[in-house]
Amino acid sequence: MVAADVGNVNDVKFPPVLEDFEGWKEKKKILVILAHPDDPEFFMGATLARWGALGHEVRYCILTTGQKGSQDLKQKPEDLAEIRKREQQNAADTLLIKSVEFLDYVDGEVVPDMKMCKQLVRIIRKYSPQIVVSSDPLNYFPATNRVNHPDHRAAGQAVLDAVFPAAGNPMFFPDLISEEKLMPINVAELWFSIPAEANLVVDVSRYFDQKIKAILCHKSQLNMDDAKFEEMLKTRWAIINEQKQSVFLERFRRIVFG
Ligand SMILES: [Zn+2]
Repeated sequence: MVAADVGNVNDVKFPPVLEDFEGWKEKKKILVILAHPDDPEFFMGATLARWGALGHEVRYCILTTGQKGSQDLKQKPEDLAEIRKREQQNAADTLLIKSVEFLDYVDGEVVPDMKMCKQLVRIIRKYSPQIVVSSDPLNYFPATNRVNHPDHRAAGQAVLDAVFPAAGNPMFFPDLISEEKLMPINVAELWFSIPAEANLVVDVSRYFDQKIKAILCHKSQLNMDDAKFEEMLKTRWAIINEQKQSVFLERFRRIVFG
């Protein structure tokens, strides 16, 4: 089924569930490429929980180690990087993610240049996913009271440029073919989380508890106890539908290549 244009989340009265939209008859290979440890879970943890539970082969590639994720000057960035890698692995395990790898860029310094493009083309060709997922490069202002992290935009731009045209074109990085035997591939779908303008908004309430469980693995990023944090997220993210029930949504810009 083709994703419907549903516009702003506030206009959604009857959000559809994800299974109405995927239209996938067989198991898929899905590669999630995002900037920081904890981005997958915060941005789309419920969708990932669903895909993991269904047996899709979901892998993470995290560009940085999140070593600036602290306000404490006494915190050594290299120690925090190790902590955050472990937390990311734990969170991925709860969602049945097949593998997690880090490209070890510095947090806050993601630049979508040709070096990164080649690394992403290498990993895309290596795993040959049908679906690649990242964050929307166009989202500068995710809410009226905050701005997006530049790494989230840069990661999305890098992924977009790696998917098209580089991954599918043998003229890009020919040494990947001659020396590493990584042949060009064309992905079928691109999904961008935290979109500036969603074209797919789905009710992921069934998987929301798993999303919370995965988020709670990122202990270094939580500034309150688990129960309070869970309550805060539920209050922040719940949408009341027409039946006066709380539902939880995840939003995407989905591109299905024709
Ligand atoms: Zn982030």
